[in-house]
Amino acid sequence: MTNLEQYYLTEEHNLFRKTLRDFLDKEVVPFVDQWEIDQQVPKEIFLKFGEMGFFGLTQEEKYGGSNLDFWYDVIFIEEVSKSNSGGFGASISAHPYLSMSHLKHEASDALKANYLPKAISGEWHGALAITEPHAGSDVAGIKTTAVKDGDEYVINGSKCFITNGVSADYIVVACKTSSTGSSGISMILVDGNSIGLSKNNLKKLGWKASDTAELAFDNVRVPITNLLGEENKGFYYIMQRFELERLTLALGAIASSEWAMEYTLQYMNERKAFGRTINKFQVLRHRIAQLTAELENVKTFTYHVCKMHADKNYCVKEASMAKLLATELSDKVAYQCLQMFGGYGYMEEYKMARFFRDSRLGTIGGGSSEIMLEIISKMVIDDVSYGQQESRAKNQDISIDDLFSSLPLRLKKEKANGVELKVLFEFENDLNYLIEIKNQEIKSSVIENKNLITYDFLLTTNTQTYIAVETGKLNPQEAFMNGKIQVSDLGKMMQFGSLFKKYSN
Ligand SMILES: Cc1cc2nc3c(=O)[nH]c(=O)nc-3n(C[C@H](O)[C@H](O)[C@H](O)COP(=O)(O)OP(=O)(O)OC[C@H]3O[C@@H](n4cnc5c(N)ncnc54)[C@H](O)[C@@H]3O)c2cc1C
Repeated sequence: MTNLEQYYLTEEHNLFRKTLRDFLDKEVVPFVDQWEIDQQVPKEIFLKFGEMGFFGLTQEEKYGGSNLDFWYDVIFIEEVSKSNSGGFGASISAHPYLSMSHLKHEASDALKANYLPKAISGEWHGALAITEPHAGSDVAGIKTTAVKDGDEYVINGSKCFITNGVSADYIVVACKTSSTGSSGISMILVDGNSIGLSKNNLKKLGWKASDTAELAFDNVRVPITNLLGEENKGFYYIMQRFELERLTLALGAIASSEWAMEYTLQYMNERKAFGRTINKFQVLRHRIAQLTAELENVKTFTYHVCKMHADKNYCVKEASMAKLLATELSDKVAYQCLQMFGGYGYMEEYKMARFFRDSRLGTIGGGSSEIMLEIISKMVIDDVSYGQQESRAKNQDISIDDLFSSLPLRLKKEKANGVELKVLFEFENDLNYLIEIKNQEIKSSVIENKNLITYDFLLTTNTQTYIAVETGKLNPQEAFMNGKIQVSDLGKMMQFGSLFKKYSN
């Protein structure tokens, strides 16, 4: 146990780590080389994990879970990531932390009762299918459709790069149920053996022990009761679950890097050059010292984010930062540690080659580094909040009055310095508002006769669209491009938009 862990973990946590480690050393480590060749983790191993209770650590007891605290999940991710098979780690954790996570939070009681006990026992395991051949980072751009036909959804489309997609007994699938951008996505539970669903295992650079599927849905019929949560709210559920996914990816990157460092130190202690072990060369020692410092630093931050998550604090920004820094660092560790092995590092019989390949996925999967930077910059620069989107999605009661009465509070006063603007908002049913900004103050008033007033620009839309934009459910550019919002002066509109923080209730 490192110093850091002492601050967060109890004796019970440490005992759990030991039990899990012993189990992995016996049931996993001796077999991962074969699973890498098979390109699949055998079904029996899911059952063994289930028997040990490892899939239900933080699930409710009534479904067979243990209802433990989040640190058990942290330990689970860390230890499976130290088994030198990114593919095994991905497969065994995609089940509880990608697919089951949606079941836990969004499934109806009936679905939970049907699926969770078997998922927790390992009898069934799952996959989460969001990415499509033409839409990965751009989740809102997915095209797979689910159309209602009586009491069924009919699903058509395709998904790609789906971890466990070939072997999964059930798949949580993101589908379009409405044509309106990100707000038209729904999450639907599909049985892995559904008629019309075909699967193909893709060949990969690394993560070889996990199956990674291309899925084709050809009129796949699913009961409408398999909808997770509410229709058209899927985008928000996906964003909410990303917090945990990114945290698990950060933890995995750190733990596997620690494993690689330990393995490298052992080698450096044995390998001799110029009459001494290579751990005596200062340049290599400093490289190890630098990597250790960086790793400890990122781990300390990531543990802090785990604490935030465990305490149910909103930490999308911090989880994105942890994922970004940890996975980038893992690639650096992989590159530099492999170098310490010289030619042997390049050979398959040494474990570094696999770590080098497996690490490379970290900065791509679960949101690429570029997307992490996009999220962080939107939150830091534009004051966007992803955290309240779920509650906003549930909140059907926001009115135009709520939005306009919150404007003074949301006004960025420093930006409004010297700005004078009069904006006329024209909504349906002849509802018109005038918003005036002057001397860093803002005033909104309902206008009876719009023909009698002057303004700098006119914005015409309907209340539903405007609420969707202000609450972050609809991208303003998208709304403008497809004609849902019309403005008489785009430049002034953009200036106006930049003066306010996003609405949050
Ligand atoms: C082994 C593996 C397992 C996976 N498992 C799953 C799974 O279980 N379920 C699932 O749904 N998906 C899964 N994925 C998909 C993964 O999440 C996506 O690959 C990832 O989100 C990137 O999407 P993309 O591949 O379509 O790349 P693209 O979105 O096409 O991006 C291509 C490049 O453009 C950059 N880019 C894109 N948009 C921007 C932007 N706005 N600004 C700057 N740069 C940008 C990206 O960072 C990237 O470098 C898996 C992928 C792999 C390889």
